[in-house]
Amino acid sequence: GAGARELYGPQDPLTILDRSSLPWTLYNSSSAWLLEFYSSWCGHCVQYAPTWKLLAGDVKDWDPAIKIAVIDCASEDNTETCKQYSIQYYPSFRFFRAFSKEFTQGEGYKKDADHDVQTVRQLMIEFLQNSPTESKAPACPSLEPIEPSQVSALISRKDPHYTAVIFESPDSFVGREVMLDFVQYDGLVVRRALDTDKEALKQLGVASVPSCYLIYPNGTHGLLNNLKPLRSLFSSHLKTLPGVRKKKLMQAAITTKPAKEPSASADWKTFDKSKMYMADLESGLHYLLRVEVATHETLEGDELRVFKDLITILYKLFPGRPHVARLLETLQDWLVSMPLDEIPYNAILDLVNNKMQISGIHLTSRLQWVGCQGSEPGLRGYPCSLWKLFHTLTVQAAAQPNALANTALEDNHGAVLQTMRRYIKHFFGCRDCAGHFESMAKESMDEVKTLNEAVLWLWKKHNKVNKRLAGAASEDPRSPKVDWPTPDMCPACHGEVKGVHEWNEDEVLRFLNQHYGSQDILLRYAD
Ligand code: FAD
Repeated sequence: GAGARELYGPQDPLTILDRSSLPWTLYNSSSAWLLEFYSSWCGHCVQYAPTWKLLAGDVKDWDPAIKIAVIDCASEDNTETCKQYSIQYYPSFRFFRAFSKEFTQGEGYKKDADHDVQTVRQLMIEFLQNSPTESKAPACPSLEPIEPSQVSALISRKDPHYTAVIFESPDSFVGREVMLDFVQYDGLVVRRALDTDKEALKQLGVASVPSCYLIYPNGTHGLLNNLKPLRSLFSSHLKTLPGVRKKKLMQAAITTKPAKEPSASADWKTFDKSKMYMADLESGLHYLLRVEVATHETLEGDELRVFKDLITILYKLFPGRPHVARLLETLQDWLVSMPLDEIPYNAILDLVNNKMQISGIHLTSRLQWVGCQGSEPGLRGYPCSLWKLFHTLTVQAAAQPNALANTALEDNHGAVLQTMRRYIKHFFGCRDCAGHFESMAKESMDEVKTLNEAVLWLWKKHNKVNKRLAGAASEDPRSPKVDWPTPDMCPACHGEVKGVHEWNEDEVLRFLNQHYGSQDILLRYAD
């Protein structure tokens, strides 16, 4: 309606329906739907919107089986539609089965049910499980339990994929939740088994439920012992198994070659994904200075200002080795002493390449990716190093609050983020990425008030990008895009509140400080 507040927008992980899209969206759909009829002027709907969005995000991976949608009955265009569904109170909820061939009213939703995320999620499961065969979404696996005795058959089968068996009590939903979390993933099959046959459980060493028993493609098997027994932790851990991948998005699938098994090429460098490598940071710096910015023949105006600020930040905060630190210092001194409005980039390249033969200055001119190496050419590399560079810089800024004193950036807690934002906008070669990053920055970067908030802001936004890119063509099968840090890297970072995953941000901050702190950067493979 005119002037009404929009409760849901295109950035939310759900489908917004209206009079014209509703019928063809729900009619003969290959997935089931859960639709909220709301009214943007109803106070309770306004209050409830964040919960509905949280739910939609929480079950986003279930999309092929069941999707979440909304329709605004306060919009005059939609009034007639809401009337057809006999909606009298807001919010009202209706389930729709897959493949409905008629203009269904939708199945009712338990009237007095709590509407918190966990309860609605369980109603969704019951709805899927109780749907008659002819209206089962093909993507929805059978949610019925297997017998504990069948587990030993699975173990001896040597399937080419992982099998995870969730052992649980009959009233637990964890197994079915994890099963649905993987409907878009290859490489893993999830089953559930009840804890009724105590003898079978004992033989497998299952002492408490819920617990997750994992069978590897090579036949090894065992309990995942060191995970908190929560749905979100089971799922995020299972997503990190090598070879477990989100299925290619339809759009990406058209343009990419058939998925290949990750190849272990001869010059693959083994590395520890929980460590930082100087070779990545220096290769990234080399690419940034000698290739990316060098596509601009002269720097002037905004571009020059961004470049100067970036060099100031690098000089003050980059945890580099002495020969790199000297290069950054020399660049910084030179730029500060140059009152020019316009600098030919060749002059900067001369400095970077140390044409003046100043002693003790050097920056590798080789791309040597380690933690950022891709399993195929074109994957990972520079963009990976750029993320790592800026995470490192935000962490260093928080560790040294006075580092930017006496520079043009002093007293600005957002200096690193804002410089990153301007760098991405003016120089980052991937223009699509730059557009996406700019819109995230516009949304909330200005709310960052402290150095620690800057560290967490970048972490959060990077995870948002990871979520968007899971299954995209640029995803390396060896480095799946997942919520980071994963539970195995930082168990304390993860928890659940009322059945919904929640980060412990104090722990995340501690983890980021340690991961991107300078003491921890390995020199292996660095020139
Ligand atoms: P990356 O995402 O590059 O991550 C590098 C490393 O950072 C990881 O290996 C991990 O060690 C660590 N890490 C992962 N998540 C986090 C986190 N949340 N916090 C801290 N550290 C973390 N590609 C697109 O296709 N579309 C885009 O719109 C897009 N936008 C981008 C915007 C920016 C600003 C940048 C720098 C890159 C963008 N990219 C985009 C590239 C994409 O994000 C990846 O960098 C690229 O696909 C390589 O992925 P990767 O597997 O090396 O991991």
